[in-house]
Amino acid sequence: MGGKCDIELIDKKGKRVDGRTPEQLRDVKIEVGVLHGADGSCYLEWGGNKVMAGVYGPREAVPRRVQNARRAIVQCKYNMAAFSVDERKRPGPDRRSREISKVISEALEAVVLTEMFPRASIDVNIEILQAEAGTRCAGLTAAAVAMADAGIPMRDIPVACAAGKAGGHVVMDLGKLEDNFGEADLPIAIAPRTGEILLMQMDGHLTPEEFERAFQLAFDGCIKVGELQKKALMEKYAKAVPEGNGNEAAKEE
Ligand code: UDP
Repeated sequence: MGGKCDIELIDKKGKRVDGRTPEQLRDVKIEVGVLHGADGSCYLEWGGNKVMAGVYGPREAVPRRVQNARRAIVQCKYNMAAFSVDERKRPGPDRRSREISKVISEALEAVVLTEMFPRASIDVNIEILQAEAGTRCAGLTAAAVAMADAGIPMRDIPVACAAGKAGGHVVMDLGKLEDNFGEADLPIAIAPRTGEILLMQMDGHLTPEEFERAFQLAFDGCIKVGELQKKALMEKYAKAVPEGNGNEAAKEE
């Protein structure tokens, strides 16, 4: 964020470097239930981001000192693969990945009916296989689908999207160049049914008016991606449910 570049991030006609309009998301593709070994999983592509999320649990929280006698905890591990970025990343956790793991854990935990599973842990692994800006939003969005796939009882399916400022304009869902050379980045996560904010971070500078506009764009992005989450889950689970509502056999008896 805030680096210098000679590239025009948005042209006079309002087109961005990757050809999008200011209100346009990158393409998002969501696949549900892709890992055999996990209780729930999701593979998500968001522009050039490629993300795998696997959910395990609810299961006994270990070590025991992390257990909460009254409710479950959500423990998320966000990891960026060494090969996911242009300049090979040193493997293993760092300050950034710990911060992202923490904010995603808190966002997800806010919607889980945790009181149903005292002393349990819901373990969420997010692997960034390819990164192109916005990986915390892509990771959280994939993790939420994987949690739904695992059958974790939730009040809502969290979803995330960023907006920001690049080339002097407020835009939805920053791409790589916009993230590197833009003026501000505002990732948010919401519970779409209620509009509750589950995560909000900001990097860079925005005026109050620009912030309002960026927030609205990020919120609109969340709603759009939320629809894709639901569609992907319906596609998987509609196949598993018989034609009609499944009550036909009961009525015949
Ligand atoms: N990035 C990178 N190497 C790193 C960390 C990040 O190249 O070690 C890139 C990556 O493309 C990432 C982007 O910088 O998506 C923006 O990172 P940021 O910390 O803003 O988080 P994100 O936007 O991915 O949530």
